[in-house]
Amino acid sequence: MSKTVCRFLSQATGEASFGLIEDGEVFPVPPSQIFDDAPDQTTPGEVLALSEVKLLAPVTPSKIVCVGRNYRDHAAELGNPMPDTPLLFLKPPSAVVGHGDAIELPSVSARVEHEGELGVVIGRRARRVGDGENPLDYVLGYTCVNDVTARDLQRQDVQFTRAKSFDTFCPVGPYVVTGIDPFDLQVETRVNGETRQRGRTAAMAFPVAYLIRYISHIMTLEAGDVISTGTPSGVGPLSDGDVCEVEVENVGTLRNSVRAGA
Ligand code: ZN
Repeated sequence: MSKTVCRFLSQATGEASFGLIEDGEVFPVPPSQIFDDAPDQTTPGEVLALSEVKLLAPVTPSKIVCVGRNYRDHAAELGNPMPDTPLLFLKPPSAVVGHGDAIELPSVSARVEHEGELGVVIGRRARRVGDGENPLDYVLGYTCVNDVTARDLQRQDVQFTRAKSFDTFCPVGPYVVTGIDPFDLQVETRVNGETRQRGRTAAMAFPVAYLIRYISHIMTLEAGDVISTGTPSGVGPLSDGDVCEVEVENVGTLRNSVRAGA
């Protein structure tokens, strides 16, 4: 059965809480109801209307593992060859923001671009996933990620860390949807309502199950970690005042405003 998991700011306690969304209402739940091995806690607060809560990024990952050039058409548009193995890089947890938060454009970049992606949220610790195991058994669910990138700095630095890691460069959300098949979902990115990117996850060079197993042999994936699975073609610039949306089929729409940073 599919569940919709969110994190939100409780008005009553001023603290963040997990919640399950049903019919426009948010039911607060302890982390132990979301992640297998999370500590049990008392459930804060009561049922709230979804329209009245401030949604936060749905998880607090220890790391965001990103996959570069996982769609052939995107590799081609940047003039890059397809890699033989997944091309991985990290975004720091400090870059994460939620649905409705602003993406801030750093003044040191003249070209910040959107990359709409399917995000995989890990549900329990995955280390060296074996051949006899189904990697998807380690998944909590799926979300939308905007892998915001300072393209000029990425080209200048060659390696990716600075270009991918500014504060606010990792919008995640609006929630995590469990129990869906990630194999063939539409991923669409819009700027000010205009479609800029549209692809299907079936076009990934390295699909979700392959990525989980591959990454788990490099680093331990913890509950709440996010794998951002790469972007289809159509990446383009973001400007002060824009509204950028990433929509993943059967998951939802992640919406963020864009503003010039200090
Ligand atoms: Zn990306």
